[in-house]
Amino acid sequence: MEHVDVVVIGAGAAGLMCALTAGARGRRVLVLDHANKVGKKILMSGGGRCNFTNLHSGPDNFLSANPHFAKSALSRYTPWHFIELVDRHRIAWHEKTLGQLFCDISSKLVVKMLLEECAAVGVEVRTHTAVESIEVGTPHRLRIAAGALTAESLVIATGGYSIPSLGATGFGFDFARSLGLDVLPTRAGLVPFTLSGKPLDQLAGLAGVAAECVARAGEGSFREAMLFTHRGLSGPAVLQVSSYWEPGQPVVFDLWPDADIAEDLATARAQRPRIALRTFLAERWTRSMAQRWCELWLPDRPLDSWPVPTWSASCRACTGGRCVRRAPRATARRR
Ligand SMILES: Cc1cc2nc3c(=O)[nH]c(=O)nc-3n(C[C@H](O)[C@H](O)[C@H](O)COP(=O)(O)OP(=O)(O)OC[C@H]3O[C@@H](n4cnc5c(N)ncnc54)[C@H](O)[C@@H]3O)c2cc1C
Repeated sequence: MEHVDVVVIGAGAAGLMCALTAGARGRRVLVLDHANKVGKKILMSGGGRCNFTNLHSGPDNFLSANPHFAKSALSRYTPWHFIELVDRHRIAWHEKTLGQLFCDISSKLVVKMLLEECAAVGVEVRTHTAVESIEVGTPHRLRIAAGALTAESLVIATGGYSIPSLGATGFGFDFARSLGLDVLPTRAGLVPFTLSGKPLDQLAGLAGVAAECVARAGEGSFREAMLFTHRGLSGPAVLQVSSYWEPGQPVVFDLWPDADIAEDLATARAQRPRIALRTFLAERWTRSMAQRWCELWLPDRPLDSWPVPTWSASCRACTGGRCVRRAPRATARRR
């Protein structure tokens, strides 16, 4: 029978941070993960460059039924603590937009850093190790293929359901339920929207095109870029707003942010009455997007052939966030 002070199940970002912190406090820590590698989600995070923190990260950025949790956690461990750790490991980073910090080279360096920190305080990490049973008590008793374990403290850090191919399971939720804890319903968040049928066909040709927008759903409103993809819509604005979207509710994208399109059209119409609508739109959008929009929804006539009130009425409705007539049906999918 092997005995340790702390067993952490799950060697992702949370499990490794927990393990290195407990190890630094002098506890004998063992981390178990059923996957073949640790930190697989970290490896794919931030497109392979790990968006490891945000300079402006604060409790208000976290969605939780218990907002006090984020307040207390973030008051004790701020983004600057993590930046100090990254700097100590000489991992080069840069700020992208809106305070988002990414590795210059690769997310692999973040996983390496966490493993080095674990090793420095004597934490043992075992992959390919599934937990067969847990008996909660003093101490906790665990059964793994190699035998039995006891531990004073048990940490479940098995993450969420997203991307089972990376090792994700519902282990933590099932375990919490088995202890009689209330588990709130889960839903996808920070995910792209997939489109199907006609809207997908209509927008498929724009895959790879990005546009600045304000995306709104429910209480959420984000002024960032959106990206058309082969499967639907993605990009920072879409990922953010997905966390506020409920199936059946509209998502509204203002594709003419920070300006009043009706006013801009009226000005353009007065100054350059003969330019085509597509040319006007391409002053803020890519040419391909302007062209596609005109092919699909707006006859590409010179501006002076449009009566001004038509523009004002339809565009104000959209920028006011109420126009859902053309909102394609979308489904959120788990990452
Ligand atoms: C495509 C993508 C991009 C992302 N980009 C970013 C980003 O740039 N910045 C950012 O901050 N976040 C990003 N995230 C989110 C971030 O990766 C996750 O929030 C974070 O990795 C979650 O860490 P975790 O430790 O809670 O869970 P996980 O990383 O899921 O770790 C859980 C671990 O538990 C193991 N496990 C599961 N079940 C068992 C079991 N029964 N027995 C033993 N082990 C088990 C798994 O193998 C896994 O190693 C991204 C996520 C994805 C999917």
